[in-house]
Amino acid sequence: MAKRDYYEVLGVSRDASDSEIKKAYRALARKYHPDANKDDPNAAEKFKEATEAYQVLSDPEKRAQYDRMGHAAFEQGAGGAGFDFSGFGGLDDIFEMMFGGGFGGRQRRPRGPERGADLSYELDIDFEDAVFGKEVELEIPRTETCDVCGGSGAEPGTHPTTCPQCHGTGQVQFAQHTPFGRIMTSRTCDRCGGTGSYVEHPCTACHGRGQVRRLRRVKVKVPAGVNDGTRLRLSGEGEGGLRGGPPGDLYVYMRVRPHPEFKRDGLNLLREATISFPQAALGGEIRVKTLDNKNVTLTIPEGTQSGTVLRIRGHGVPRLGSTQRGDLLVRVIVETPRKLTAKQRELLVALAETMGDSVNTESKGILGKIFGKN
Ligand SMILES: [Zn+2]
Ligand SMILES: [Zn+2]
Repeated sequence: MAKRDYYEVLGVSRDASDSEIKKAYRALARKYHPDANKDDPNAAEKFKEATEAYQVLSDPEKRAQYDRMGHAAFEQGAGGAGFDFSGFGGLDDIFEMMFGGGFGGRQRRPRGPERGADLSYELDIDFEDAVFGKEVELEIPRTETCDVCGGSGAEPGTHPTTCPQCHGTGQVQFAQHTPFGRIMTSRTCDRCGGTGSYVEHPCTACHGRGQVRRLRRVKVKVPAGVNDGTRLRLSGEGEGGLRGGPPGDLYVYMRVRPHPEFKRDGLNLLREATISFPQAALGGEIRVKTLDNKNVTLTIPEGTQSGTVLRIRGHGVPRLGSTQRGDLLVRVIVETPRKLTAKQRELLVALAETMGDSVNTESKGILGKIFGKN
């Protein structure tokens, strides 16, 4: 495919000034940068095309070469460098790279207050506590604003002065050499860390950092009904802010320990209960222990099969932030008797006979069990 003329790509005349070229490119870059334009499948191509045109036309030497020879000036063997776009990041980076800090209003200022980082904490919690809620106290190591110097890093009574390296801007300019010429760009001043100020007499409590590391006790009210993976946000309990910025948040993630008897399915609790064969056949009532240690009565209907799930309403998990509760589901297991008295055996044999079942009429004891049938 034939390459489009660079002036045509940018939509400027052949005698366009440098600022007209910059302006045209900025407009195109904003329009077609892949970060800004996710709908147009050709955006990336158009962006590359515009960037290539800009890189040539914004460089007086390359522009003159292009005016003389056209695209041939930059083809293989003609001394032209390939165009490499791999090093570019987001739209801001492009503008930073192309126009530096001083162009078009993106003037850098010394770093201002910065919000502290968020912290996350995994809290191991018992099954019952997750269901019914609990107040726990956590010990969180975190950085806090130094209360001796108030975060300035300067010994009380002294003041930070303007950084001699960046003269208070927080940024230092440096030149980057690229195939397209020298590009002035700026980076954070390493002397002051971008603050623009310099501490001559550092605070002894925090060694000039403005922050101290502390173990903080935080009370967390775990609400009833949390589940494994539930996240609680404690506003302002994260790392302290920098240069007077607000602290971050603390996120507490629940890790619920399993329970030996209860399982959870959404708002319902599940447990098993054993019933005898006569209870299963005739029906009756049993006592079932709930998670909060109450004994409740469960009615077993006549003819209940082993594995049947029966429901006890309102003894499940509270819905988070509500008084509504799920149910306790009881899976009943019919237990086969292992030891029988002579009387029980007699009754069972009699029962089997009425049902036409072939059964052992005498106990074979341990040996009978080991050597099998008959
Ligand atoms: Zn301090
Ligand atoms: Zn500095």
